Amino acid sequence: MVINMAANASEAELQHVIERIQECGFQPHITRGAERVIVAAVGAGGSRSALEALKAAPGVEDVVPIAHPFKLVSRQTRPERTRVMVGEVCIGGEEVVVMAGPCSVESREQILATARGVKAAGATMLRGGAYKPRTSPYDFQGLGLEALQYLREAREATGLPVVTEVMSTEDIPLISEYADMLQVGARNMQNYALLRQLAKSRKPVLLKRGPSASVKEWLLAAEYLLSGGNQNVVLCERGIKTFETEMRNTFDLAAVALARELSHLPVVADPSHGTGRRDLIQPASRAAVAIGADGLIIEVHPCPERALSDGAQSLDLNEFAKMMRSLTAPLRPLAALAEVGS
Ligand code: PEP
Ligand code: MN
Repeated sequence: MVINMAANASEAELQHVIERIQECGFQPHITRGAERVIVAAVGAGGSRSALEALKAAPGVEDVVPIAHPFKLVSRQTRPERTRVMVGEVCIGGEEVVVMAGPCSVESREQILATARGVKAAGATMLRGGAYKPRTSPYDFQGLGLEALQYLREAREATGLPVVTEVMSTEDIPLISEYADMLQVGARNMQNYALLRQLAKSRKPVLLKRGPSASVKEWLLAAEYLLSGGNQNVVLCERGIKTFETEMRNTFDLAAVALARELSHLPVVADPSHGTGRRDLIQPASRAAVAIGADGLIIEVHPCPERALSDGAQSLDLNEFAKMMRSLTAPLRPLAALAEVGS
């Protein structure tokens, strides 16, 4: 249930509502908007009818059920869009945030060269995997702590905040020391032990959509983070499994718009994993921005043919710079794209 306070409700009236919600067996979550305060009463097992009776309490405008199973993630509990700060970078504001870097951190030289190159092209955050979720146990698994040290050095050299994946609860403290944002990979979207632990952390989380997850399941995964106390959540669409075989995944662009409609959380798009194809990164990025994505996360490697993971979907530094220029070219005519140069 959502309790919408009247615009002129007093602090004492708000406190009374909060106490009543607790007495009814729910947890109150307060959102202070520009004009009014909204209190979401969430939890299981409480008395709904007692909550409905709060309509009669002083300072309450109305009490309405939350239409979706994801409560705190829903725009009903927070009509204004959430902005997530990662260092100085604001995700969910006016600017499209571009996170760029290699799939995996492979060496000091590789990550430093990539960080400098993507920064020069206009990226605002650095990505790079230190702990890699690989489909095969025989594939490169990431450099771990060594990679985290290189990422820190790259951040110091460029000022770009770093996002990197955390695969297990035991790695959270160490990775949190080095990274500015923690990525929950697609394969871990429904790892509830991991989500619960990340909820207790204040670090911003980039929550990727699982390859077979519905939008509802994705938003419910985000609900674990918000209900556990971490409001700094950014959703990431990275493609889903379909019958299509020419692309690694099917980049579900409409889900970017839908997630932004259903939720106040920022949504970024990952055309690299979404398509799996270097030739599609530019058009897919432009489409993602056009449909409303708050940001992009793009794999870039100084020499994609030598990449230890995801080379086929990685741009080199020139291609990335060209893609960045293309983001501001008009949607039509396509001929305008030729002007962004190669
Ligand atoms: C990645 O970002 O390199 C990655 C493994 O992504 P995903 O979890 O979306 O597959
Ligand atoms: Mn990758």
